[in-house]
Amino acid sequence: MSSSSIWHPFTQHALEPAFGKIAATEGAYLIEESGRRVLDAISSWWVITHGHRHPLIVQAVRHALDRYDQIIFAEYSHEPAEELADELVRISPTGLEHVFFSDSGSTAVEVALKMALGHFHNLGMPRSRIVVMAHSYHGDTIGTMSAGERGVFNAAYQPLLFSVDTIPFPVAGQEQATLDELERLCRSGEVAALLVEPLVLGAGGMKTYSATLLARLREITSHYDVLLIADEVMTGWGRTGSLFACDQAGISPDILCLSKGITGGVLPLAVTLASPDIFASHYSEDRRRTFFHSSSYTANPIACAAAVANLQIWRDEPVMSRLDWISGEHDRRLVQLSKLTTVAETRQAGTIAAIELRVSEGGYLAEIGPKLRRFFRERGLLIRPLGNVIYLMPPYCVTERDLDLAYGAMEEAIRLFGGARP
Ligand SMILES: *Cc1c(COP(=O)(O)O)cnc(C)c1O
Repeated sequence: MSSSSIWHPFTQHALEPAFGKIAATEGAYLIEESGRRVLDAISSWWVITHGHRHPLIVQAVRHALDRYDQIIFAEYSHEPAEELADELVRISPTGLEHVFFSDSGSTAVEVALKMALGHFHNLGMPRSRIVVMAHSYHGDTIGTMSAGERGVFNAAYQPLLFSVDTIPFPVAGQEQATLDELERLCRSGEVAALLVEPLVLGAGGMKTYSATLLARLREITSHYDVLLIADEVMTGWGRTGSLFACDQAGISPDILCLSKGITGGVLPLAVTLASPDIFASHYSEDRRRTFFHSSSYTANPIACAAAVANLQIWRDEPVMSRLDWISGEHDRRLVQLSKLTTVAETRQAGTIAAIELRVSEGGYLAEIGPKLRRFFRERGLLIRPLGNVIYLMPPYCVTERDLDLAYGAMEEAIRLFGGARP
């Protein structure tokens, strides 16, 4: 029994009583108290991009602390936020010109949903339906759970969740069903927004769909004046091989949600970018049209400074070639793994590699998950399978040796556990 009073996230303490401590982080590694190094093959839940404690970001944080702490953002602005906002507008898909700050991915999505409803409300033609894609994940607040896939994670809260309309996941070869359903829903004239994770559904099991399909979703929403909200909380900052996943489809959403890698993973921060139309519908001498949202830590200057440093790394370092290299390595190595009979499918999007195992029952609670986690930890790897899907989402400083270690362990795991009964 652990003596800690901490209640950990997504943890069943009756099954996992004690947690070891991490004493330090460095590059692609977590260093346990014993000095043992563990490869952070999932970027500490998808937040670390360049590597742990990139010197430029650490330095920027130290420097910012000499001048700032929290500053009330409903009253003042500050240089780190201004610089970050300008740069975000410059690098994000065209047409996103307004930056609203918050502090987590869930909040960024909540803000997006409120902007969408506020937009139509302020225009005097209220629309209240939100369309989402099956198997999506958008966060753990009541609002974002409502928009996400329903299941064991949110069964207890079901009575509080609002209803949304769901389009099927665009399974390869059956994409038309997704598009047809979206059109059917849009025709009602009641849909405010389509909320999607572009190209990769992360928590839903690293399910991938094509940039062409994403572009079609944009065409349909534009045609019906339905707002497109891109939740790039996970896919942003290079994960799918381009800075943003939307870039691959050549599209601009009306609202873009970013968080996780925005500070390189060093500090919590989120932004929701909006089009001039959405800003304009809230812009009025009538105070009732104000966008009524704020978090206490909105645009924390230290976090903004970390994000500014992250953007500098993107400008000054060969990040793109690192992404290309990781992508190529995944590609080559996944071909090998896909030959194993217990592998049902392999999927890849840029730096994300996923292997779906053939087991008698899938889903997050599949018993195989905890066994695999233990197996990987014993081999010095932090890998957390999503049910029967094993995936890697490494920091971009990962080396060939690191990938040898990860793929070697995955192959061993597949041979041992593939086809296992849950
Ligand atoms: C992680 C995630 C979120 C929620 O972000 P938090 O910072 O954990 O609140 C929202 N959307 C997507 C696509 C995510 O992967």
